[in-house]
Amino acid sequence: MIYDVAIIGAGPGGSTTAYFLSRAGAKVLLIDSKINIGKPVQCGEFVPLQLRLQFPKFFSEELVVQRVRNMVHFTPWGEISVTPSEGFLLNRDKFDERLVKLAIKEGTEARFGIRFVSFEGKNLILKDRRSGNIHTVRSDIIVGADGARSTVAKLTGEYTKTFLPAAQITLPLKEKLEDLLIFFREYIPGGYGWIFPKGNVANVGVGIDPRHGLKISQVLKKFKEEVIAEGFVEDSILKRTGGFIPAEGMKKPLRGNVLLVGDAGGFCHPITGAGIANAVQTGVMASSAILENSLQSYEEECREIFGEFLGRAVLKRVKYMGHWENLKFTVPRTWITFKEYREEV
Ligand SMILES: Cc1cc2nc3c(=O)[nH]c(=O)nc-3n(C[C@H](O)[C@H](O)[C@H](O)COP(=O)(O)OP(=O)(O)OC[C@H]3O[C@@H](n4cnc5c(N)ncnc54)[C@H](O)[C@@H]3O)c2cc1C
Repeated sequence: MIYDVAIIGAGPGGSTTAYFLSRAGAKVLLIDSKINIGKPVQCGEFVPLQLRLQFPKFFSEELVVQRVRNMVHFTPWGEISVTPSEGFLLNRDKFDERLVKLAIKEGTEARFGIRFVSFEGKNLILKDRRSGNIHTVRSDIIVGADGARSTVAKLTGEYTKTFLPAAQITLPLKEKLEDLLIFFREYIPGGYGWIFPKGNVANVGVGIDPRHGLKISQVLKKFKEEVIAEGFVEDSILKRTGGFIPAEGMKKPLRGNVLLVGDAGGFCHPITGAGIANAVQTGVMASSAILENSLQSYEEECREIFGEFLGRAVLKRVKYMGHWENLKFTVPRTWITFKEYREEV
């Protein structure tokens, strides 16, 4: 079987690419090593409102759990600042599932429980996780949408090597919240803690800079104790998850006939960890470039839209976040809502 495009990874990046390509009539194969798409959820599940306005079809009502209006920042020096941050908390597993269904409806051939192993030219080597069988498919173009630790990116030679470990638990909320809560603390070095409300529960997590050599589980435990003591959440863990956030910014997103989208190309923000919107956006851009038969324009557009924005955040991370002594100096220079972030390089 010969495909126009084979897409590895059915997260938001891969499924968006598949959807737009299939809608235009391309012959698309979408594979994922997961048997159940979207599960387990490894995400805080916050999405900016803008994404829903841009792609209303991607967000059916049952995906959206609640709206949020602001981001409230709690600093260790006692200042609490509020920044408008309209968006919503979604059921991420259902979102990933919906995007796949939309792509299939447009004609994408989707296969799950299939792990991408490697490629040679236009031949992809795939392994069926259930049977263990190896088989080969042929595709003119390959899209790596296989997440932070992308195998496709590794095979292209330029890939992310630095990651921020993140860990999250879901706990019942004591009282409903209408905002995202962000905590900067000395014991969360090179990162932050979050409480993202999702109806009666909240996703409570931490991400840290690995240069500090701490165990993420210990940092999360301490954060959990703080937010329980402060009366935000109940002491009853409903779910646990975690993952890795690419921390080097955009990688070269095009090599020959291989394009990288979403986390595979390092498009996640290396300080906030936000990556869903960028995965969708790069999926749209990659599909347009493929349909226009102008792969080079994908790389150019990525550099134009994300290159400087993410590159600047990486520089700040490298310059400031390995030290975590003077938070009153460091936090405003590394967190996007502070004026010092915008003023200083
Ligand atoms: C703890 C945590 C919290 C986060 N919270 C948020 C948040 O609140 N908001 C936000 O915007 N972002 C958040 N992010 C980041 C966000 O989850 C990612 O940026 C986003 O999922 C990237 O989408 P993607 O499609 O590029 O990759 P992914 O969603 O990671 O999808 C990649 C897919 O590829 C598949 N795959 C991997 N390797 C192979 C292979 N060899 N063969 C076949 N399939 C393969 C995987 O199974 C997976 O389904 C968070 C990340 C973490 C770790």
